[in-house]
Amino acid sequence: MTAVPAVGADALHKALKIHFGFSAFRPGQLEIISDAMAGRDVLAVMPTGGGKSLCFQLPALLQPGLTLVVSPLIALMQDQVRLLRANGIDAGLLNSAQTAAEAAECFRAIEAQRLKLLYVAPERLLMAGFLARLSEMAAISQVVIDEAHCVSDWGHDFRPEYRRLASVREQLPEVPILGFTATATPTVRDDIVNQLQLRDPARHVASFDRPNLYWSVEAKDRGSYERLLVRAKKGGSGIVYCLSRKRVDDIAARLQADGISALPYHAGLNGERRSLNQSEFIRDAAQVMVATVAFGMGINKPDVRWVVHFDLPRSLEAYYQEGGRAGRDGEPGDCVLFFSAGDLRTAEQLIRTRVDAETGEPLEALQATARAQLQTVVHYAESPDCRRVLQLAYFGETFSAPCGNCDNCLNPPALDDVTLAARQLLSTVARLAQRGQAFGAGHVIDILRGETTDKVIAQGHEQLSVFGIGSALAPPRWRALIRRLLADGALAQSAGVYPVLQITADAKPLLKGERAVTLPQVARSSQTARSGRRAAAGPVDDPLFQALRQLRLRLARENDVPPYVVFTDVTLHALAERRPLTLQAFADIPGVGERKLEQWGAIFVDAIRDFHDS
Ligand code: ADP
Ligand code: ZN
Repeated sequence: MTAVPAVGADALHKALKIHFGFSAFRPGQLEIISDAMAGRDVLAVMPTGGGKSLCFQLPALLQPGLTLVVSPLIALMQDQVRLLRANGIDAGLLNSAQTAAEAAECFRAIEAQRLKLLYVAPERLLMAGFLARLSEMAAISQVVIDEAHCVSDWGHDFRPEYRRLASVREQLPEVPILGFTATATPTVRDDIVNQLQLRDPARHVASFDRPNLYWSVEAKDRGSYERLLVRAKKGGSGIVYCLSRKRVDDIAARLQADGISALPYHAGLNGERRSLNQSEFIRDAAQVMVATVAFGMGINKPDVRWVVHFDLPRSLEAYYQEGGRAGRDGEPGDCVLFFSAGDLRTAEQLIRTRVDAETGEPLEALQATARAQLQTVVHYAESPDCRRVLQLAYFGETFSAPCGNCDNCLNPPALDDVTLAARQLLSTVARLAQRGQAFGAGHVIDILRGETTDKVIAQGHEQLSVFGIGSALAPPRWRALIRRLLADGALAQSAGVYPVLQITADAKPLLKGERAVTLPQVARSSQTARSGRRAAAGPVDDPLFQALRQLRLRLARENDVPPYVVFTDVTLHALAERRPLTLQAFADIPGVGERKLEQWGAIFVDAIRDFHDS
């Protein structure tokens, strides 16, 4: 699919260093850029942190004329424009929140042919006559639709104004259109191509693996908060996700009381407070954001070092998105899920209460979907398999374990052989089915354990030959086993308010004793879960790194930008390690392009020299 690049790979590498300070492309970037340079339509799918922006920013710089970038959120646009300007690239912004004077200034820059990239909100772009007027002022080289999944109502973030972007093709028939998204499902991808009327687009789908992220699951118990605190004290920006506003407020307050600069974020806070807290976090004035899932969509902070899920996410895909906010800069990121069976029951309860707002009827289809999604993340949490294999399988990718950077690979859990118990369980469900009956997990477990409950007596189930054969196993283990068999497909669960267990054809090999079943031994303590962790690669305790961080913070405040706009952690780590004492050596550091060399080189080299001398 790769078109002949209009500019050679050497020239592209050179431009990458001069404008952005990087010496190598990330996977997929060069191919996408080559297609963009060749004037093709593009659909690019890359995970968060994959480096999408560069794929259209570099071609924008190297082509004559102006690149339009459509983005759904003002905060994202502002962030990108700030980052571009810090690299000496002329970028502008038009949105409904700015003053007439700001807009006029932007138009002047366009008319003077100074601007290379113009970020516009969709409704602005679609205003009558806007594109015609723009085309008279400057040649438009390409139109980029960022977060392109917003065009699809199959996706998780449909925006009606995005749907109207189809008219861009009619208004600018000659101009290539490039769509970018981190949404991996094939349906959404196809929908983007159709909705945006892409013409024979070059499709690029990068792997969703994020090698720099360490994934782990820890038992959620009384010690969980303490473990969170230990993590926070180690430093680095972090996000704690919680299910309820109340929990957010509680944990934020506890962290504050324990000396951590943490702020809450949820829909119960007013808009002003929310954006204030968000900007404190982005500017490194607050270290930790404790939030509901309302937080994260509009933030681009590249140096989030850890994400802890204090409560159960609603699906594996949501978990991957939320945890994936760690380590966008490619430096190590730590993603932890606290899991307990109790949380699962709470989540199931919530699903059960989901009713139609008008009729009060249970929304069966919705409940079934929610339950299936919940199962994906429960399976992830309870599985002894490589976390990456589990995640990537969900996105249709195969990956071979061990990955070397997840808890299960670094520290394989001890397994209990529960084959016999699995057979007892399946026989019980089968026995009930022979009688034309089906029951939920609780009742089946009562039969296995020989509990003479009212319901057992009323049904005469104490007469069954399987009654009491499984008294050795505690109810939580039985529940864990049932979840495992549901995940494996040997059991199925009916939809509806009170789901019942059903046996499937896949149970046969198990019943015949041809297959074994194992469960990780009872929830590993945090101690063992932690012992295998790869040490953070960054020398966080290095005094030079700390000194450089301080310098960065001061420069960022003076210039009224987030610290990562000055330099990201990647650059600071390289500086602390290589300690360049000349501007020439400084120029070789990743993240140092021409503009940043000129603006910050001397200050940082001086700081390193002072450190050396002292
Ligand atoms: P996405 O939009 O795909 O989530 P971004 O475009 O925000 O990702 O890029 C994530 C981070 O990776 C940014 O800090 C960016 O500067 C950095 N980055 C992008 N391309 C490269 C590269 N080729 N080499 C090093 N860092 C890169
Ligand atoms: Zn692994």
